[in-house]
Amino acid sequence: THFGFQEVDEQAKQGLVGNVFRAVADNYDVMNDAMSMGVHRAWKWFAVAQSGVSAGDSVLDLAAGSGDLSLKFANKVGPDGMVIVTDINAAMLAQGRKRLTDAGIAGNVDYCLVNAEKLPFEDNQFDCISISFGLRNVTHKDQALAEMRRCLKPGGRAIILEFSQPTNSTFRKFYDAYSFNVIPKLGELISDDRDSYQYLVESIRQHPPQEELKQMMLDAGFDRVRYHNLTGGIVALHMGYKY
Ligand code: SAM
Repeated sequence: THFGFQEVDEQAKQGLVGNVFRAVADNYDVMNDAMSMGVHRAWKWFAVAQSGVSAGDSVLDLAAGSGDLSLKFANKVGPDGMVIVTDINAAMLAQGRKRLTDAGIAGNVDYCLVNAEKLPFEDNQFDCISISFGLRNVTHKDQALAEMRRCLKPGGRAIILEFSQPTNSTFRKFYDAYSFNVIPKLGELISDDRDSYQYLVESIRQHPPQEELKQMMLDAGFDRVRYHNLTGGIVALHMGYKY
């Protein structure tokens, strides 16, 4: 790959991912809007609508970054619920805390530096655990999925929003051209950081497509696993239950 990630060991990869997100934290929201032409807002809205989260629920948002989902969840769970906002990266978590605090959210949220591969929570704690545009950065995805299931209450749901594979082959060619040519250029223009965005594009390409991720969730023990393709499969929302 561009960074030679296939040759470096896993530990080093996690460090490099950390560097990428430290580098992009400040411009993260601007880039999200620029790269997706604003559509990421609709994908996130759909994920939260599908989550079934309601007043009084406890929610764990993994790889929360600047907290887009966390904020929506905090409004849904209300004063009797709880949202734990987490990320592996302190700079991104600080963005999330700022975003929620500026929106007047307090009292029903907590912030915690957490690696999605090893959750510092007891079994059966949460009604919903989400990871939005985060799983592709996790080295041991099977471990993260197993941890999500462990920490869900029986009846709880996992929500995975992630880039996926466009279902139409002509559209896929256009999309590949866009992501390989336009996104690194946008990164250069907006963040003066072509390499980080080149990495992001490559991480999207290497992420397991819809059916493969569905099977990984089944292997991790989730029930009733299903997914919705969004924007022609550029993104997929996977959901699974713990029974
Ligand atoms: N959830 C937010 C969203 O939907 O906009 C942020 C997504 S951002 C693209 C990916 C986030 O994953 C970054 O904030 C990064 O620090 C975090 N991340 C990467 N590896 C992680 C890991 N192993 N555990 C937890 N978070 C991780």
